[in-house]
Amino acid sequence: MERELSAFVANIQKGCIHDGPGLRTNVFLMGCPLRCKWCQNPENLRTKPVLLYSSEECRQCGSCVTACPNGCITLNPITKEILFDRTNCTDCGACADVCLTGARKICGRRMTPDQLFKEVMKDEVFFRNSGGGVTLSGGEPTVHIPFLKGVYAKFKEVGISTALETSGYCNTKVLLELEPFVDAFLFDFKAETDTVHREVTGVSNRLIKKNLEALIETGARIIIRIPLIPTVNDGPEFTKMMEYLETLDFGGEMNILPFHQFGMTKYELVDEDYELKEMPECSKEKADHYKQIAESFNFRVDVGGANISA
Ligand code: SF4
Ligand code: SF4
Repeated sequence: MERELSAFVANIQKGCIHDGPGLRTNVFLMGCPLRCKWCQNPENLRTKPVLLYSSEECRQCGSCVTACPNGCITLNPITKEILFDRTNCTDCGACADVCLTGARKICGRRMTPDQLFKEVMKDEVFFRNSGGGVTLSGGEPTVHIPFLKGVYAKFKEVGISTALETSGYCNTKVLLELEPFVDAFLFDFKAETDTVHREVTGVSNRLIKKNLEALIETGARIIIRIPLIPTVNDGPEFTKMMEYLETLDFGGEMNILPFHQFGMTKYELVDEDYELKEMPECSKEKADHYKQIAESFNFRVDVGGANISA
């Protein structure tokens, strides 16, 4: 039963101040049905562990060559260069086990709700003092609904704040089932125009809008999060988003998350192409400009997600 109620955790970040009220521990679960072009966590997209490989950290010791059961790694005897072909890689982690430099690592640790609860509660004192708590993020955490319920129930029992960061792209019924467990929904909204949304995320926004509207009906605390992506949802698209949101009674809390490139190198670690390599980061001036536009619609806006009240 415990094993059934488990999920792969990509990362646990402590002391976060941008993802819900107070000081928080963010838990990044693996798996996501979207493929946002600006995603800064490409290692979280699959629901299973993935091997991360950094050639820069490799010291050409050759240990991984013999460790790999699938012959994915070879050592050029002349140049001593390590050659890695992922074609037959099963992400088994045998190479990571013998790599002492950390050039090879497995991302994704299977955890039960109880294991995760105990790990996160190491920071209980900070949560109690700041009104903070746990934020489950991803990937798209609603891929793991039974697991989420198991985790949230434990935090609810001890009175620790719970938050969920979601793209809103999930079954409506299961999203609503989560509502009693979640103190704050950090609900992403990426584009109002469906064709734009499909183009940049791979999915329609119809279900997302339906879910947002259904969640609002429950009276849940919702903080709308807008990743501000140049050429995608700035300009007229941003205004359309505001006009749509203005029709909803979601409470008016909004975060604008300016586009950044912090995760660019992760694409190399997982050998994935990254289309937005050349895209300049969103400047503070630009973010402030869009903050003002959002405020003109009477939303209460923070750039970056800080200052969320408990
Ligand atoms: S993860 Fe496993 S299959 Fe992939 S390269 Fe390493 S040892 Fe080989
Ligand atoms: S074990 Fe690590 S350091 Fe050694 S060759 Fe393989 S990747 Fe490089």
